[in-house]
Amino acid sequence: MTIPHAPGNGHGGHDHEEHPGMAHDEELGYYAVRAKAMEALLVQKGICSPDEIQGMVDRLEARSPSDGARVVARAWADPAFKSLLLSDPEAALVQLGYSLPETTPKLDVVENTNELHHLVVCTLCSCYPRALLGRPPDWYKSLAYRSRAVVDPRGVISEFGLDLADDVEVRVLDSTADLRYLVLPRRPEGTEGMSEEELAGLVTRDSMIGVTDARSPQAAHSG
Ligand code: FE
Repeated sequence: MTIPHAPGNGHGGHDHEEHPGMAHDEELGYYAVRAKAMEALLVQKGICSPDEIQGMVDRLEARSPSDGARVVARAWADPAFKSLLLSDPEAALVQLGYSLPETTPKLDVVENTNELHHLVVCTLCSCYPRALLGRPPDWYKSLAYRSRAVVDPRGVISEFGLDLADDVEVRVLDSTADLRYLVLPRRPEGTEGMSEEELAGLVTRDSMIGVTDARSPQAAHSG
């Protein structure tokens, strides 16, 4: 069996163009080599084509926290959308033109309130709602975050700059390969007259993970 691109297969570096920005095979780490080997096997066994794999990668790369921010802003502005988002996230996302591929994990949306604050982690690796938010930040994948978010969630949240009152319950959600979480942050005060687009500008990636709140209009204004 030949694994395309795998180190040591003697290929001459002629086909790197299909992965722009990708380092040469000789520089790939263990996981990158393993991913390529799995990709080759999926193709070889006829489970999916290289185009399908690349299409999935492209879809994920096209997503960013601004997509999640649009969803959150709509939920803040439209109570009917919010209740649909909480009860049937996929149906709600379709209304905004997002369709989660069937192969992606289920998405659960949880609401932060004055009484209850959710914090999302993947203790095992880096599970994250990539289909909506794109790639997770590097710290999300760090051992420090993955372990400390569970042991001392308040401490972690505080290090991100948010001091939660003692009477706020903190709930840590551990993401898995089958279930991903999106936090619906609290709508900041003083935002009553704002448009959905302005509201979206207050929604940060970190607030959708739960390590912070959304930005206040004052904070957003001062950059
Ligand atoms: Fe994970």
